[in-house]
Amino acid sequence: MSLIKLEYIWLDGYKPTQSLRSKTKVVKAEEFDGTLASLSMWSFDGSSTEQAPGGSSDCLLKPVYVVKDPQRKNGYLVMCEVLNADGTAHESNGRATIEDDDNDFWFGFEQEYFLWDPRTNKPLGFPDGGYPGPQGPYYCSVGAKNAYGRDIVEEHLDVIIEAGLNVEGINAEVAAGQWEFQIFAKGAKEAGDQIWIARYLLERIGEKYGVSVNWHCKPLGALDWNGSGMHANFSNTTLRTCGSKEMYEKICEAFRPVVKEHIDVYGADNHLRLTGKHETASIHDFSYGVSDRGASIRIPIASVQRGWKGYLEDRRPNSAADPYKVAARIIKTVKSVGA
Ligand code: ADP
Ligand code: MN
Ligand code: MN
Ligand code: MN
Repeated sequence: MSLIKLEYIWLDGYKPTQSLRSKTKVVKAEEFDGTLASLSMWSFDGSSTEQAPGGSSDCLLKPVYVVKDPQRKNGYLVMCEVLNADGTAHESNGRATIEDDDNDFWFGFEQEYFLWDPRTNKPLGFPDGGYPGPQGPYYCSVGAKNAYGRDIVEEHLDVIIEAGLNVEGINAEVAAGQWEFQIFAKGAKEAGDQIWIARYLLERIGEKYGVSVNWHCKPLGALDWNGSGMHANFSNTTLRTCGSKEMYEKICEAFRPVVKEHIDVYGADNHLRLTGKHETASIHDFSYGVSDRGASIRIPIASVQRGWKGYLEDRRPNSAADPYKVAARIIKTVKSVGA
């Protein structure tokens, strides 16, 4: 009799930044046919994850997305939503707040992160007690002098491809030890699911190398090093087909009065990153512009060249943001002008 390992993955209730949690459920092969429909609900101790009081600690795990686990024999990764014991969505459950039932919204997230050496408490490539040379040579670099941690990055890329995630690319980023992957999905919920599973796999691969992942948006503080973002590229039928500069401007303008509501879900400590330097806009301003990497929202030149048919890029979400909450808020704002 063969057995299947199902890794149930969820987000805890820590504030302001939620972390990944997971545990393994072993089931008989005949109980699971590879589909979501054959996965059962499960539960966990919410008092250990800041999701429930000790006296009434059960939270429910509702499977919502499943992929093969390439690193585990007979394994699958099961992304879950957290529900209260009565079956309602838990307040930490950002996925349940996404209003995109027809999957009209497409999202491409550019996830930046630092590979972090827990012994030095610095990024890979930072010498003990000092700093490497200033930014410049690291972005898209090759060679042991400038690119650090490629073995981890390559293993991660292979694993997420094998899991079936729709990764579109990777690159070394502007700071030493900083990298990026891009994931795209047609449907906001699936885009979030894929980002979280990709984050999970990166963390797990790091365990093997004794390297952690630092998702903080400005892990080197005010020093002259880039922070980490998670640019959110998005479109819906209107943005993909309208052919209208006026419509693009109307949608961008819809973001102006709700800056605070967006920043609230764009990741902790974003004021440290959105300074107006290092290819960011100030957290206090709102701007948009064609090809403008110093704007809050960039209108990619490709969208203009196709006759105002394409997508927009909100550059403000940071590397530690929850893609579910980011997507939910963007969808709400775009829909607010009937687009
Ligand atoms: P850059 O670094 O120049 O900002 P990237 O190539 O890293 O750009 O990322 C661009 C992202 O835009 C990709 O993740 C891609 O999937 C996404 N994208 C492209 N077309 C669309 C679209 N129509 N809707 C949503 N996202 C899109
Ligand atoms: Mn990019
Ligand atoms: Mn980048
Ligand atoms: Mn970008």
